[in-house]
Amino acid sequence: MSDFTDLNGAEHSFGESEAQREVRANDRQYVFHSWSAQDAINPLPIAKGEGVRFWDYDGTEYLDFSSQLVNLNLGHQHPGLVAAIQEQAGRLATIQPAMANDVRGELAKRIVEHSFEGARSVFFTNGGADANEYAVRMARHHTGRQKVLARYRSYHGSTATAITLTGEPRRWANGTLDAGVVHFQGPYLYRSAFYAETPEQETERALAHLEQTIQLEGPNTIAAIILETVTGTNGVLVPPPGYLPGVRALADKYGIVIIADEVMVGFGRTGEWFAYQGFDLRPDLVTFAKGVNSGYVPLGGVVISEEIHQTFAKTPFPGGLTYSGHPLACATGVATFDIFEEERILERVNDLGSRVVEPRLRELAAKHPSVGEFRGKGLFWSLELVVDPETREPLVPFNATGEAAAPMNAVVAACKAAGLWPFVHFNRLQIAPPLIISEEDLVAGLDIIDAALDVADGYVT
Ligand code: PLP
Repeated sequence: MSDFTDLNGAEHSFGESEAQREVRANDRQYVFHSWSAQDAINPLPIAKGEGVRFWDYDGTEYLDFSSQLVNLNLGHQHPGLVAAIQEQAGRLATIQPAMANDVRGELAKRIVEHSFEGARSVFFTNGGADANEYAVRMARHHTGRQKVLARYRSYHGSTATAITLTGEPRRWANGTLDAGVVHFQGPYLYRSAFYAETPEQETERALAHLEQTIQLEGPNTIAAIILETVTGTNGVLVPPPGYLPGVRALADKYGIVIIADEVMVGFGRTGEWFAYQGFDLRPDLVTFAKGVNSGYVPLGGVVISEEIHQTFAKTPFPGGLTYSGHPLACATGVATFDIFEEERILERVNDLGSRVVEPRLRELAAKHPSVGEFRGKGLFWSLELVVDPETREPLVPFNATGEAAAPMNAVVAACKAAGLWPFVHFNRLQIAPPLIISEEDLVAGLDIIDAALDVADGYVT
């Protein structure tokens, strides 16, 4: 007797702890994992996923409130994405990047058509970090300048320039791999670096700080300012009104390129195709990955303005990747656009975010003293947990290695025990379910978070 039949018709059985043990044993013996001390981890074996849920080999079910790494926007095993891979694999599984191909061209066209005014072309990469590497390289060649300004509390990926751009502890152990990177503070009213008390003050002071940074570094040495439109992993930091247009004005004043890193928030997460469209920002380069095809096949890229495109019209662009514009990946990207339109994904995200999530989080913030602040947009939210609402001391202080300590682990354990796979980073419990989630599942997940916050409240002094 089988427990489930997968999309290929193959039957699988759960309840075989032996199977689960074997997967675990091979993993522990042979797989080297990211960001981890290899002997300190015990990754959960996953057998199957469907929609907003996944299961281990023993049949334990999890409701995914993290969309894996905030990439699974259309959920597991979406039939439209699976069919796109199958159809493309049957026709042309791979082709090198210097050749033209229907799905590659179609996806680039759809992306440009949904992008900022003046967008011209798309360079495809394998993921988010290399998209940022290439965006920086384009900005440097375009301007003839070397420095790049990046914000603290950002994550831009883990390749050489991308990890140096990153403004949080994951950079520490890697040192400085790109000498041209300079960090500055962005707006974050709850922990304002500028002693601001209102969003207006925060915007004004953050922009004054950025202008000072530009002047002290030398405007004619700065190629680009890179920013996550809505800072993702480091707290779903939604920019205050006027901030991003203010960055645009400074970039125009000093001839600097703006790179919007939309790897985490692009493709519907905040309720627009791209998050910058909700904040009145006109970027010059936009990096994307994750949501472009929900990660079914690795894919990322850079959307390029006409002006920067023209820099490389007669002069060759010095860079490339064997798998740039991979047909299997592009086929799933094209299917993503179709599915977004057919399933009215953006409307759903805006409706569920404003009607279900925001009011519920407001209620949780009032009920639980451990919730210092909640913030977000669309289906991307963060609960910032504190041990003391007055001092705002984080529930987990940053420790030397940036690892989460006991209190947050207890909150995570409470979520998992109740069948919810949460997205947790430092002292924040973040909410990022697949965008196809039903209202019923969304409410069920928020109920589990409500109960887990009782555990967090136990640490409040
Ligand atoms: N930029 C942002 C904002 C991200 O959140 C991430 C990954 O989480 C990256 C870049 C790196 O993307 P990748 O892991 O695909 O290299």
